[in-house]
Amino acid sequence: MPSEGSSINPFETAKKQVDIVCDLIGINGGIREMLKHPKRELSVNFPVRMDDGSYRVFSGFRVQYNMARGPCKGGIRYHPNVSLDEVRALAAWMTWKCAVVNLPYGGAKGGVICDPKHMSQGELERMTRRYASEIAPLIGPEMDIPAPDVYTDSQTMAWIMDTYSVLKGYSVPGVITGKPISLGGSEGRGEATGRGCAYVIREAAPHSKVKVKGASVAVQGFGNAGSVAAKILQEEQGAKIVAVSDTRGGIYNPAGLSVAAVEAHKKKTGSVVGFAGTKPLTHDELLAMDVDILIPAALENQITGKNAHAIRAKIVAEAANGPTTPEADQILYDRKITVLPDVLANAGGVTVSYFEWAQDIQGFFWTLKEVNDRLERVMVRSYGEVHAEAMQRKVHNRTAAYVVAIQRVVDAIKMRGIYP
Ligand code: GLU
Repeated sequence: MPSEGSSINPFETAKKQVDIVCDLIGINGGIREMLKHPKRELSVNFPVRMDDGSYRVFSGFRVQYNMARGPCKGGIRYHPNVSLDEVRALAAWMTWKCAVVNLPYGGAKGGVICDPKHMSQGELERMTRRYASEIAPLIGPEMDIPAPDVYTDSQTMAWIMDTYSVLKGYSVPGVITGKPISLGGSEGRGEATGRGCAYVIREAAPHSKVKVKGASVAVQGFGNAGSVAAKILQEEQGAKIVAVSDTRGGIYNPAGLSVAAVEAHKKKTGSVVGFAGTKPLTHDELLAMDVDILIPAALENQITGKNAHAIRAKIVAEAANGPTTPEADQILYDRKITVLPDVLANAGGVTVSYFEWAQDIQGFFWTLKEVNDRLERVMVRSYGEVHAEAMQRKVHNRTAAYVVAIQRVVDAIKMRGIYP
């Protein structure tokens, strides 16, 4: 990943984004301060027995940013670079994301500082269960509902659901989303982030003079969000995926890559690198490719003031959270590059999480078609609202999405009033 990004504090970015919108729509005083502070934060340090018999202390967080509109919602991230400020930023972005797509939720996020690539399944399970029991007082179907994020998956969610249920003494499927179908997970949740991103790209393309059929696409990050977005763009919309990357590097083939074949290669070798018939690419080269659509689907701070001038895509669709800094946003806007911001472009994941929670609470489950049709309606409507706001105010899509979101959150805060 580009090194200049790592020094940027994502929570400073998150607060700057709020200020830009509060200046624009005239929100000041105490309400602005509320929007720039997390409501509740829990830091936990806990021991885990490792396979060699030793004990290691891990540190983790759960930040509940704002719950004016409903219970908190947001994923849990496992990564060596997790920090409290990163989790705060991600929790803030979840608040705006849920409001942009109008889910009855506030925002939260969790994280554990760890390197899951160098831990066994047993170590991961024990760490997950202990972290779940440490944050158990804060979570629950009516309070805060976690979900997967970077390097956590449906197995992680199953362990958390089980741990929480054992503590309660009965099964509580609605405490977490992104679960396996056998535990009350939803059809379509696994690919919802990528699918939602593909719907938003489809809606935005005509406004950016891009035809998705035949369009060239580069994807940074071939995880759950990036690989599924690529697959759906290729298989359902006829786009040509020319470059993809993961932590080990990128690959390029101007004639187009079969996403399914790259997936199979990654499953076998652990990386996209070395896929037959491709040229290697660095991370910086991938971001600067002359493509129609660029999908950053990895981590924060990838497109910054330093490299925004080098971006050549017509559309940047943020499947990742926080890949573009405010400085880069302005540069891309001035260069007439359409940015589909994270809080909209990757909101498909939390939208189907909401569907999963609603199904769990009712104990009544939907078909894949029902899930995908409802997801499509939410993404199309939300893109339309954000686009209309951007046109009317002559601002870029991130600011427009934040206007929609922050107005909804502020309305809820004002209607509830301040206690006491
Ligand atoms: N981690 C995902 C996100 O950043 C999903 C959150 C959820 O489903 O609650 O949007």
